[in-house]
Amino acid sequence: MTTPVIVIHGGAGALSRNSMSSQKEQTYRQSLAQIVAAGQAILAAGCSALDAVTEAVRLLEEDPLFNAGYGSVFTHQQTHELDACVMDGRNLQAGAVCGVARIRHPILAARAVMEHSPHLLLSAQGAEDFAAAQGLAMVDENFFSTDERLQQLIRVQASDTYQIALDHDGQRLSESTIRGLDDHDEPLDPDKKYGTVGAVAIDAKGNLAAATSTGGMTNKMLGRIGDSPIVGAGCYANNQTVAVSSTGTGEAFMRAVAAYDVSALMEYADLSLAEATQRVVMDKLLKLDGSGGMIAVDAAGNIALPFNSEGMYRGYGYVGGLPKVGIYGDPES
Ligand code: ASP
Repeated sequence: MTTPVIVIHGGAGALSRNSMSSQKEQTYRQSLAQIVAAGQAILAAGCSALDAVTEAVRLLEEDPLFNAGYGSVFTHQQTHELDACVMDGRNLQAGAVCGVARIRHPILAARAVMEHSPHLLLSAQGAEDFAAAQGLAMVDENFFSTDERLQQLIRVQASDTYQIALDHDGQRLSESTIRGLDDHDEPLDPDKKYGTVGAVAIDAKGNLAAATSTGGMTNKMLGRIGDSPIVGAGCYANNQTVAVSSTGTGEAFMRAVAAYDVSALMEYADLSLAEATQRVVMDKLLKLDGSGGMIAVDAAGNIALPFNSEGMYRGYGYVGGLPKVGIYGDPES
């Protein structure tokens, strides 16, 4: 029998300009470990992988350290537009919402779309009306705003080169334009971090599930939708192969159909989980200027957490084991 395991991510990005051993790093590590532990407890109680990933992502949405739910990034117009997706590997059912601003937990709305609507993806007002009718918690759009995210938007908008998305080429924002605003002490540079959150899991019955939720990318255009709510790009689960949740430059992940590509490489080309995820993250995505990473678990309970950026907030925990977390390139501990 497979040992159940949950894997989570809180986004990928570039190393901070500031101290790499900041106190904030410990805060991130603690938060990741707690959420892994919550997922482990759900799996240990015999609940489904679907329940474990939904709850892990709900907790990540609730945590302002991560760009999903509370603490989501701003669009160019200083608004929020959130996206989320969940997929059940047992039957390839999936649900997603995109461009929502009033649903407290977009991942719960995504799950409700899967379980209580005839559709897969609902957007904007229609998704919000559906969530409200389902009895989900609704909030004012300002609920998602934090001062840190506003400063992040101001820094990006003040950069010399106007950026629709975050700078993923490793080019620093001009020091002259950001002077006075550069006071963060995050382990990963918040201006070059893709803060989507996600979880994948396998339960005691061998069922796989994946969930992904995001505020998108800082300074994105109104109406822009990334990979996170797109089945096969930002989220995918199939009991025959793998469950995947992505984080990074959404446009590239969509062009690569990144999450499904891992599954296809395993199904049709017999690649192992490690080979398939390496091929997609280190080869295919890089050729499309795609920066970021993914977490994955296969039908045998193997896990992979590859990224081509300098870091990725991540963690995992097998039932009966201790949570392991990592930020930079060194192994999770
Ligand atoms: N992939 C997300 C998007 O493009 C961003 C992220 O991973 O943080 O919307």
